[in-house]
Amino acid sequence: MAPAAAVAGHKPTRQGPGFRVWKTTATRGRTSMVPRFVADSMVGRLAKWLRAFGFDVVYQPFAEDDELVNWARQREAILVTRDTGLARVPGVRVIFIKDDGLEEQLRQVVREGPLDLSAARPLSRCIVCNEGLLTVTRDKVRDQVPPYVYAKHRWYARCPGCGRTYWQGTHVPRIRERLARLARETGEREQ
Ligand SMILES: [Zn+2]
Repeated sequence: MAPAAAVAGHKPTRQGPGFRVWKTTATRGRTSMVPRFVADSMVGRLAKWLRAFGFDVVYQPFAEDDELVNWARQREAILVTRDTGLARVPGVRVIFIKDDGLEEQLRQVVREGPLDLSAARPLSRCIVCNEGLLTVTRDKVRDQVPPYVYAKHRWYARCPGCGRTYWQGTHVPRIRERLARLARETGEREQ
């Protein structure tokens, strides 16, 4: 199952990835390069969890191999794949995922990325379409979230791509818990 984001409304839209150079983030006084990813159709669950952590992952399950390779080249992204045919592509960094299990897949990406988990920002990116979320004021979502959610939560964000509304529901502790576990298991520092 995908990480259950608290989302409301709107069907997903198919859209092309944006093109930007690698993002540099400053965390606690140090600067780190945060890798971006392009994921193939066999690692969809992994892709969604990386997005839930706030990392940039192009994941278009119906994309052709050529498209995946082109996106990875244009974005200077790491291609994450289970396809042996894509394991060695000239000019592209590839993480060839060996394990079936999500936990080990995440560990492999952290180790081989390498992925600095201190750069993780849970609930900063749309899990469905990968766009960065924009914070919105509570009054703007009144008609878009269930009344019990509106009554309980103060913080909301919206995806500029697909229009979904996010709030800090019960899944956020789950995301943080998984992040913390992953950091422990891989010896990475967490946020
Ligand atoms: Zn979205």
